[in-house]
Amino acid sequence: MCLFCRIAGRELPTELLVDEPDVLAFRDINPKAPTHILVIPRKHISSLASAEAGDVELLGKLMLTAQRVAHDAGLRESGYRVVVNTGAGAGQSVFHIHLHVLGGRSLRWPPG
Ligand code: 5GP
Ligand code: ZN
Repeated sequence: MCLFCRIAGRELPTELLVDEPDVLAFRDINPKAPTHILVIPRKHISSLASAEAGDVELLGKLMLTAQRVAHDAGLRESGYRVVVNTGAGAGQSVFHIHLHVLGGRSLRWPPG
């Protein structure tokens, strides 16, 4: 069973920063920055590579939720990064689409 579907189904105890009918957000268990929040849809979409035209509204909601959690975390002025690792070769390890929201330190570009 998919790890993030288990979090969405409340099978794994995880504090939810956003708990809406279609979208959730929670802190990454292994943070890569002082703020590291994951934003996911309840719907199981394995990766950005498998998103479809019918998901366009949901994908927009994920982006605006990323904006909201970043601003709630106080990152509006300092800036933040929103990342979607897509495919194992790009670092994706959980195959349920998610946005990483990272901030609270200076972030270099390009990423490793
Ligand atoms: P990916 O590597 O697929 O882009 O990102 C998956 C993220 O999920 C990783 O940053 C990892 O630390 C996080 N993660 C893995 N398992 C759990 C978990 O059980 N709970 C939480 N909150 N985050 C997790
Ligand atoms: Zn899933």
